[in-house]
Amino acid sequence: MPGFEVFGEEEKKEIMDVLDTGVLFRYEFGEQRRGIYKVREFEEKFAGYCGAQYGQAVTSGTAALKVALAALGVGPGDEVITQCFTFVATWEAIFDSSAMPVFTEVDDTLNMDPADLENKITERTKVIIPVHMLGAQARIEEIKTIADRHGIPVLEDTAQAAGCRLKGRHLGTFGQCGTFSFDSVKTMTTGEGGMIITDDKDLWKKMSEYHDHGHDHVKNPGARGGEGRSFIGFNYRMMELQGAMGLAQLAKLDQMVASQKETKKILRKAAAKIPGVSFRNILDPEGDSATFFSFFLADKEQAVKVNKILRQNNAGAIAFGENSWHFYPHWEHLHANATLSRSGWPFKDQAGRQRVVYDPDVLPRSSALLDRLLVYQVPVNISKERVAEITAALEKAAG
Ligand SMILES: *Cc1c(COP(=O)(O)O)cnc(C)c1O
Repeated sequence: MPGFEVFGEEEKKEIMDVLDTGVLFRYEFGEQRRGIYKVREFEEKFAGYCGAQYGQAVTSGTAALKVALAALGVGPGDEVITQCFTFVATWEAIFDSSAMPVFTEVDDTLNMDPADLENKITERTKVIIPVHMLGAQARIEEIKTIADRHGIPVLEDTAQAAGCRLKGRHLGTFGQCGTFSFDSVKTMTTGEGGMIITDDKDLWKKMSEYHDHGHDHVKNPGARGGEGRSFIGFNYRMMELQGAMGLAQLAKLDQMVASQKETKKILRKAAAKIPGVSFRNILDPEGDSATFFSFFLADKEQAVKVNKILRQNNAGAIAFGENSWHFYPHWEHLHANATLSRSGWPFKDQAGRQRVVYDPDVLPRSSALLDRLLVYQVPVNISKERVAEITAALEKAAG
């Protein structure tokens, strides 16, 4: 998964280009920057790589969600549907937009279950956020069809799936927009950073202006100060050093994915020997970014037993069913309505009345599924010795 494994001369060169100009700001400084606009170039190249018209760089993947939700017009009283297996950032951004997250079950893709999505749509649903978790595809075509039938825009949280495709088409280009994260542990990294891609020019312009205090943007302007404003915004600007990192990392993305796919094949072959094992439903193995390898055991008891053997052999897997940052039943602060707001918002209204209850037990099918799931992160640079150690552990678990 992490792009930091392949930092090299390319990143240094891009960074030095920026330091040589002395300009860290993505706008202005016309003369001094000598034509170097790393963030702008990164936006254009990243969008181009994905096959999208526009890219909007921001400070993080969480900010990308927030800016996209703002541009899609989400506000108080609105509901936004996402899935119960995702990083907390997805629904933090929904709350930060003053809206309310509604959670669906996940299916054997480990992503949004389209049938449950249909159940959760109400007249208050303003956006649907499927997440392409662990580097592989959600049922995005089915989800888009359902959303279209209801006239609701789809925002793809593609934070974990840069470089991942479905039938040759990049994830993040199926919905109205797609958001990416380049944080320190993502496939390509700028330390902190994010991006939104879209083909909708009006949506891009709103995102571009909102993320920059509402400054009027015609097209990434160089000069500013005297221009107008159409609405209130905020500051989610990426800086030039991050843009420089992004350019170097993007150039390595396909290579990283290819290397992960090779390793994943070997791990899968070894795990297939475990009696009762089955695999995550990867809708398009060719397009998989292979950042993770996920497999199911027959039941929870076997998953615990297998992982014990794997751990004893220095190859313990991640049990996402127990993970407190990525799975709804373990978001105790959400269930407990923990908020810094003195009124209790967003769980309570200004009069102290309860607005919503998040019950940890309402998504039993996802719990049953994740309870028997084991996952390995697939590194970019992994030694032959380490691969052999993991496959030997899997073979031991096979008995
Ligand atoms: C990492 C991640 C984010 C947030 O990205 P940051 O850049 O860390 O803010 C959002 N959604 C998912 C699914 C993620 O994995």
